[in-house]
Amino acid sequence: MTPIEAPSPNFDDRALPITMIVLHYTGMVDAESAIARLRDPEAKVSSHYVVAEDGTVLRLVPDDKRAWHAGRSHWRDVTDVNSASIGIEIVNPGHEFGYRPFPDEQIDAVIRLVHDLKDRYEITRGNIVGHSDIAPARKRDPGELFPWGKLARLRLALPRPTKNLMDPMWSEAGFLLALERFGYDVTDKMAAIVAFQRRFRPELIDGEIDAECRMILLALLLPKPQGDD
Ligand SMILES: [Zn+2]
Repeated sequence: MTPIEAPSPNFDDRALPITMIVLHYTGMVDAESAIARLRDPEAKVSSHYVVAEDGTVLRLVPDDKRAWHAGRSHWRDVTDVNSASIGIEIVNPGHEFGYRPFPDEQIDAVIRLVHDLKDRYEITRGNIVGHSDIAPARKRDPGELFPWGKLARLRLALPRPTKNLMDPMWSEAGFLLALERFGYDVTDKMAAIVAFQRRFRPELIDGEIDAECRMILLALLLPKPQGDD
């Protein structure tokens, strides 16, 4: 897979090695305006790659440079997510301009790209995340229509646990502690619960901790808390 080079001036030097991949949607009316913004020096935003709806892949920033896609964010022990991650923008109008399913050709291209990057930088599945996972109070992308299950079946993301589910009966405080242990910033409790649901239980995103949320989170934490493979 050879991306089309479409350089952006919006980058600086990494302060950390690459250990994460962050998936976004562009959230603008069309691909052209999104790509133009990611290459506009005034906008001060960028990503390493953009994947169009027809599966075309553009490279805006070289992997070894720090692109500006994560903003204020936090995942596990990383707070400078831009320094630690590769950012991939997936073209979709998003919740604001008409959120719609991602076409198969686009997802196939995302899968090829993530597969390649995961192998090249030995990134663990638990560190392949959505923007909403690392900035729950600010972001909803790539959103509940993103087919994480397809990536998980190829071992490119953590799967939603379905077997041997048990309710640990945590209190709210216990659930939030577990959620933080898993990786989320739980400063805004409601936002953290919603982000977790959007990622792992997208058919019911209500911000309420219920037995199913507790069971899914427990299963994700046991026996491999970091998804180290
Ligand atoms: Zn984003």
